[in-house]
Amino acid sequence: YIVADRVCKSFGTHQVLKEVSTSFNTGEVTVIIGASGSGKSTLLRAINRLEPHDSGTITIGGVPVTDNEATLQKQRCEVGMVFQQFNLFGNMTVLDNVSLAPRRIRGLSREQANARAMLLLTRVGLQDHAHKYPWQLSGGQQQRVAIARALAMEPKVMLFDEPTSALDPEMVQEVLDVMRELANGGMTMIIVTHEMGFAREVADRVMFFDQGRIAAEAPPAEFFGNPANERIRAFIGRMS
Ligand code: ATP
Ligand code: MG
Repeated sequence: YIVADRVCKSFGTHQVLKEVSTSFNTGEVTVIIGASGSGKSTLLRAINRLEPHDSGTITIGGVPVTDNEATLQKQRCEVGMVFQQFNLFGNMTVLDNVSLAPRRIRGLSREQANARAMLLLTRVGLQDHAHKYPWQLSGGQQQRVAIARALAMEPKVMLFDEPTSALDPEMVQEVLDVMRELANGGMTMIIVTHEMGFAREVADRVMFFDQGRIAAEAPPAEFFGNPANERIRAFIGRMS
């Protein structure tokens, strides 16, 4: 569904993505791992055009990601993103955080948008917190709101960039549980995470980034059971 073909990206003289080619198929859950600075976030950001790539092509459902405003707006509805820092609107209630974009961008009425938002909040276990503000919630709860907010646009793909890295350990599972349910529901997902247990259990495919290149990709059983090389074996060892 998303296809990257020889995608390159540099910051100054530092080449961060080096001819990255791969595809993410509908219904597939891909977990991306790799050392700090290897280009994982840059790839996700390029898919969403938060960071324009220099050369090569990225297509979403066959449509290239470019600066065309109308196309970009459509693509950003199709591709939801959840960040390490939840980026909720602090001056709005949980309900408004989730219903804002569907009202503004999809043109739903307040009633329709709120009804949909309540369904999503129920799905992430936060139906009783709809009228609170983000600061009144735990980190895990805030991240679940961020997931509900992304889902409110009815995306076809969800990108997660280290969604549990900023959380206290006891809150990691509740966020992973929501993500696992999404995966089980057939959502197409690309997830950057250090949670190896989650990768093993939920991923269809694990992808290892090394210095701007995809150094290996394989189903988790193979990826973890029979690492392609010593670097990957060492990385997994450090993370597990
Ligand atoms: P981490 O695990 O630490 O999140 P990452 O694999 O996500 O790492 P990226 O964030 O994609 O790595 O960054 C890759 C490289 O690009 C890093 O060396 C980073 O310093 C550099 N970089 C990223 N964004 C920018 C930017 N806006 N300007 C300059 N350099 C950048
Ligand atoms: Mg990153």
